Amino acid sequence: MMTPQRKRWWLKQFEALEVYDDWRDFEWQKQRWANFSPWEFYSKGDGKLAIDEYALDCLQALRTEIGKPIQINSAFRSVAYNRRIGGSKWSMHKLAIAFDINLHGHDRKDLTEAAIANGFNGIGQYRTFIHIDTRPWIARWDQRWRGK
Ligand SMILES: [Zn+2]
Repeated sequence: MMTPQRKRWWLKQFEALEVYDDWRDFEWQKQRWANFSPWEFYSKGDGKLAIDEYALDCLQALRTEIGKPIQINSAFRSVAYNRRIGGSKWSMHKLAIAFDINLHGHDRKDLTEAAIANGFNGIGQYRTFIHIDTRPWIARWDQRWRGK
């Protein structure tokens, strides 16, 4: 639930977020995020990129713990792209702190537990993927009934 306090937090993050028009403009830290590449994180549709370093550190820690490839269906979403796909106004994808991880080749329970253990507080279950994000409060939801 987006309480007024949480909305204030979201807006502060949103205003501070640096958005690059092209993913090539962001200086990628190859050692720090060794199992990922910048083009896995840009906004589909318009190629804009924003990176939250803490969220990426958590994602790398999760990847290191599970020891097998992670396929990201969706990461950062620009305002325009989020609107086009009907994403929620307060989407954590707009803050670059959310990742939709394809479940192919993964055990849902193992991936969920590893995500929680590595700093992901927002966890959404979908039929073919899980949404994970590093919002500062705990959130859980299950949308598997929607068939996505
Ligand atoms: Zn998501």
